[in-house]
Amino acid sequence: MELIDFKQDETFNRLRSLIGSQEYGHFELFDPLRHLSWQERKSLSGHWVVIPTGVLHAYHDQTLAYKNSHVFSITEEHFHFSMCDKLKNRISQGRLAEIEITLNARLLEEKSVCEYCLHAVSYQGFDAYRRRHAEYNQQIIKTFSFRHYLQEKYKA
Ligand SMILES: [Zn+2]
Repeated sequence: MELIDFKQDETFNRLRSLIGSQEYGHFELFDPLRHLSWQERKSLSGHWVVIPTGVLHAYHDQTLAYKNSHVFSITEEHFHFSMCDKLKNRISQGRLAEIEITLNARLLEEKSVCEYCLHAVSYQGFDAYRRRHAEYNQQIIKTFSFRHYLQEKYKA
């Protein structure tokens, strides 16, 4: 069977120039192991969803991820946005087989940010292990916003 080369197709190229596209573009095939499905994204956008901790991972900047998305997780009174020491320790000690995650930042309002998460991404020089900065640390914990953190990080 001979496949049509769309790059040589006059109609296709006319359409491409009409929408002002210089490139042919590319797309990535959906992989359910690596990409959130529409349904998963929908439920994570509204609720907490329980997943095994083994499938969590971190991006290069240590922020917490499930498949191809940033996520928040929760333990007792704190929320987490990094693969921080607290989560790592609990997972490696087998004390955290499952965890609740969400994409919905509104669900975090009652909780305060985990200081080890701030430490993991070196947020504004935050150091969870140096107690003499307690006052500075408390101020950061009070005012931290993950949305602002991402905006600052990617505004370049
Ligand atoms: Zn944490």
